[in-house]
Amino acid sequence: MKDNPKIWLSPPHIEDDEKQSLNDLIDSNWVTTGGPATTAFEEDLKRYLEVDSPVVALNSGTSAIHLALLLAGVTRGDSVMCQTMSFVATANPILYIGANPIFIDSEMETWNMCPETLENAIKKEIENDGKIPAAIIVVHSYGMPCKIDELSEISKKYNIPLIEDAAEALGSKYKDRKCGSFGDFATFSFNGNKIITTGTGGALVIKNKKLEKNARHLANQAKTSSFDYDHDVLGYNYGMSGLSAAMGIAQLKGVEKKVNIRRANNWFYWEIFDPIEEVFMLKEPILSFYSNFWLTTILFDPKGENKLNKDDLRKCLEAENIECRMLWKPLHQQSFYSKYNYYGTGIAEMLYLNGLCLPSGSSLSMEEKERIASVIKDYFKN
Ligand SMILES: *Cc1c(COP(=O)(O)O)cnc(C)c1O
Repeated sequence: MKDNPKIWLSPPHIEDDEKQSLNDLIDSNWVTTGGPATTAFEEDLKRYLEVDSPVVALNSGTSAIHLALLLAGVTRGDSVMCQTMSFVATANPILYIGANPIFIDSEMETWNMCPETLENAIKKEIENDGKIPAAIIVVHSYGMPCKIDELSEISKKYNIPLIEDAAEALGSKYKDRKCGSFGDFATFSFNGNKIITTGTGGALVIKNKKLEKNARHLANQAKTSSFDYDHDVLGYNYGMSGLSAAMGIAQLKGVEKKVNIRRANNWFYWEIFDPIEEVFMLKEPILSFYSNFWLTTILFDPKGENKLNKDDLRKCLEAENIECRMLWKPLHQQSFYSKYNYYGTGIAEMLYLNGLCLPSGSSLSMEEKERIASVIKDYFKN
C-alpha cells in the first residue's frame, strides 16, 4: 500500500551520538574549508585504509575523480579508458578536461571492467591512433572489488596511470587489502547514499606523495597567497568543509558496523533468492574478494522460461512504496557519450536490462525487511 512508509534504496544513516560532533564543530567556528577537522578526517581515513599515501578530503567524489585525472597529466584530446558500467560521475570529469572517454565492458564474475577487453582496447587504440591512453578508470561497482591484480598489471605493462573509483567501496577488500589502496589514485564519495556520508563529500588518495601539494593547491583555487589574491594556474573550489569533516569523523567510527549490516542485508536477500532458479545474485567470486555489498543486486535470467522479469517485480515493490532501481545504464549508451569508442560484447547492456538493485541501507529495520521479503515471495509464488 502507498501509505506504508517509504523504504529507500540507500538512505543516510546518522546516529544520535553523531549530532554532538556537529555541535562541537559549530562551537569551534571552523565550519569552512581548511580547518583542523578536515585534517583530522584525512588522518582517520588514512588509518582506516591502512595506506601511507596522502589522503585529501574534498567536496565530492566527482571532484576527486577530476583532480585525479588532472594530476595524472590527462589533457585535452587525450583518451581515457573507463568502465562503462558505472554512475555517470565516473566519466564526466574526462569531458570536463576535454579528453575522450573510451568505454570498456564488464566481465561476469564481478560485473566490473574486464581485463582482457581492456588490454585488447589499449592495443587497438595504439594501433589506430599511435597514442597510448592517458589513464584508466576502474570501478568497484556496488562495493564488489574489480579484478584489480589483472587490471593493475595492464596499467603497469603499458605505463598508464590507474585511477580506482572506490566511491561505492569503502570497507571492501581484495586479498585483505582495502579497496582504494591499489591505484596510482583512488577516489571515494561520501554522498548521502554511500556507505558513510558527510552530506556531500569525497576524498582522493594519492600514491605519489610528491603530487599531494599540487592536489591541495588545485583544490583551493590555485591560490599562491591569500593577501594579494594571486593564483598561478586555473584552480577549483574543491575543498571539504569543516562541517562535512566533523560528520565524516563521526561516521567513520561506525564504518565497520555499517559494512557488517550491509553484508547481513545481502545474506537476507540470499536466503530469499537462493531457491529461485531464474534469479542470480552477484557473489564474491573467490575468497580474495570481500564486498561491502553497498547495494544488493540481482539479475534475472534473460533466457528464463517463466517470463519472470525485473519490471514486474519492480512494479510489485513500488506498489508497496519500496524503492528499487535498475543497474547502471552503460555509459556508452548515454546520449552524450554515444559518439565515443566502446569495446565489449554487450555484458553491461545485458546487466542493465535484467538487473535490479534492492533496498540495502545500513538502517534497514527488521520490519522493513519483512515487508520487502513478503512482496518478493508473493511475486515468485505466482
Ligand atoms: C557516487 C559516485 C560517484 C560520485 O560521487 P559524488 O560524491 O556524488 O560526486 C562517482 N563514482 C561512483 C561509482 C559513484 O557511485
